[in-house]
Amino acid sequence: MRPARVPVRRGPHDAAPRVTIAALMTVGSAVAAGSMAVARRLRAGRAGGVIVTQHVASALQTRAQVNALRRWFDFIHHDELLDRLERPGRRPFCLLTFDDGKRSIATQTAPELERLGVPAVFYVTTGFLTDGSPLWFDRREAIIKSLGHVPPGLEIDDLKRLSLEVIHDRLDRACAGHRLVLDLTSDDVLPMSWDDARALARRGFTIAAHGVHHCVLTRETETRAFCEIRQSIEDVTSRIGVPCASFAFPNGNYTPRLARHALECGVRTVMTTEPAWADGRYPCWRLPRVELFGRDTTLKVALKLSAAATGRLLANPDGTGRRYWRTDRFGRHDATSLP
Ligand SMILES: [Zn+2]
Repeated sequence: MRPARVPVRRGPHDAAPRVTIAALMTVGSAVAAGSMAVARRLRAGRAGGVIVTQHVASALQTRAQVNALRRWFDFIHHDELLDRLERPGRRPFCLLTFDDGKRSIATQTAPELERLGVPAVFYVTTGFLTDGSPLWFDRREAIIKSLGHVPPGLEIDDLKRLSLEVIHDRLDRACAGHRLVLDLTSDDVLPMSWDDARALARRGFTIAAHGVHHCVLTRETETRAFCEIRQSIEDVTSRIGVPCASFAFPNGNYTPRLARHALECGVRTVMTTEPAWADGRYPCWRLPRVELFGRDTTLKVALKLSAAATGRLLANPDGTGRRYWRTDRFGRHDATSLP
């Protein structure tokens, strides 16, 4: 005997909305593919690809983004970069880079990249790995989280115009004024250890330099900025045991003099945050990178990368907006200062 049919009442999350979500995902996927097709057309006839910069990404986020990027790019190792900038491949390249050297890179991101067979560069803030003092922007985030608002004087655009000493002084005052005890124990806040960094290097990842204290180098004296660059490159070389191959500017702010100084300290490439595709027109001491976040969906990744293919639509996360495309960014002997 067949069981009696029980009428099913449709709730707000049942079949009809699922169809809508599926349809939206199809549309999103088509828009992503279409925008990347436009990007490929904009870049037709040029070698190169994208250098992506990120900070933290969970294993799940890493897998999703790698699967999205794989549709359009060949992942490369840093050792292949200079060659791929000059010689066109069948498809454009993608070099993944992650800045700062957080512990979650060693525990979440790198193991997933390894499973997927994807190389990456990890730019480490060397003093942060050595002494474990939290980075200034993580202290600021923790203060805002504790208070539920941004206290006066800690607006991000203001802080990025200050020297590191003044920034920490403002953060100290905010903590003292509000009697805050900050929770800075997350793996997205704490640094990886030098042992972690050496283990990642042994497994084929590139460990590279990102300053000693994560100063915005253009807000420091040039002497201090030179010292931060040289010391962080020497730290990576001595701690990892192989010559440091690359330097990335903390927060992206640079001058051509600082960038050329990094090259003189022995690295082969120097990275900015100018959000454009990279090719052989750029000198190796001012290579652009496009910033992605772990939470970015496939559609958002595609839209960002296709906007970056124009070389002028995205704002530079260093706080200078779209000024980068009006500067002589392909100049190889430019001695002028950028903001
Ligand atoms: Zn950084």
